[in-house]
Amino acid sequence: MSQSVFVIGLGNMGAALAKTLMATGNQVSVWNRTAAKAKPLVQAGAKHARTVADGVAHADIIVICVSNYDDTYAALTDCGDLRAKTVLQLTSGVPSEATAMEEWMARHGAAYIDGAIMAYPREVGTEKCMLLAAGSHASWQRAESIVRQLGKHSIYLGDKVTAPASLDIALLLPTLSALIGMIQGAAIVERAGMPVADYLEMTTPAFKDRLAEDLRRQAMAIVNDQFGETEASLAGWAAAITHHVEDQAGQGIKLPFARAICDILNSAVAAGYGDEELAAVIKVMR
Ligand code: NAP
Repeated sequence: MSQSVFVIGLGNMGAALAKTLMATGNQVSVWNRTAAKAKPLVQAGAKHARTVADGVAHADIIVICVSNYDDTYAALTDCGDLRAKTVLQLTSGVPSEATAMEEWMARHGAAYIDGAIMAYPREVGTEKCMLLAAGSHASWQRAESIVRQLGKHSIYLGDKVTAPASLDIALLLPTLSALIGMIQGAAIVERAGMPVADYLEMTTPAFKDRLAEDLRRQAMAIVNDQFGETEASLAGWAAAITHHVEDQAGQGIKLPFARAICDILNSAVAAGYGDEELAAVIKVMR
């Protein structure tokens, strides 16, 4: 069903959202603080809202994707009448900001869905794009179609509006840790005088198969609260990586990420969990 959608924020992500919503047949109007960024979308058929209030007045649903929540309030300074409108906030933020924004929207009479985008701009609208969304069920019913056009595998997490932001960091951390770990490894490989391209050939299969399996095993240990059975003890991991880090530090290389991992593992060993599964480090994080 075609809807009248107003997109606020046309940075890398906002532009991808607007483009996708145009491709799925909606009547899309756009606004960006720096007006020039609207030009390609307007050339492709979007309506350029002269002001935020103008865009709000002519839309049923308002999609916001700016840098952060403070910038969202800045963009909404003169937003006109939000009553009976549905606002889909896709700007990244923290749980308390989602709660405050929901209250702000309620005071302004708008239905509100808070979301987190678990994808890159190029993936928006494809099978690879997942949005996490939360808000009242009535608001979800109004926003669902647009959310699913943006991310086919999107998940409605219920009425607790803080949920997407909590999951956002929980899902970003494993990805970022793997990527930074690979980058730290590349620095070590470079220093050892070996080709990073060869290292890449070795990391790709490891990420594809081993990492997924390891993530599941460690997560299940936490779910079941069973850390006793292990084929690779926490103390073993701690000793091996600490030995490597001490050696690499002697080569003059900077190891901030590897050192952080050593600290986490060694603190869990010091707390008495050395004989347990790696996931037992959660006990020093709680
Ligand atoms: P970006 O390219 O840097 O764009 C930022 C946007 O925010 C621009 O449209 C900018 O307007 C606008 N903005 C900043 N301050 C503003 C203000 N005070 N008033 C009005 N507009 C303001 O960032 P992005 O990559 O599109 O990211 C946007 C959001 O999506 C972020 O919260 C980000 O964490 C989230 N996200 C991004 C990705 C990604 O891969 N890019 C993935 C998931 C989630 P100007 O053009 O005028 O500066």
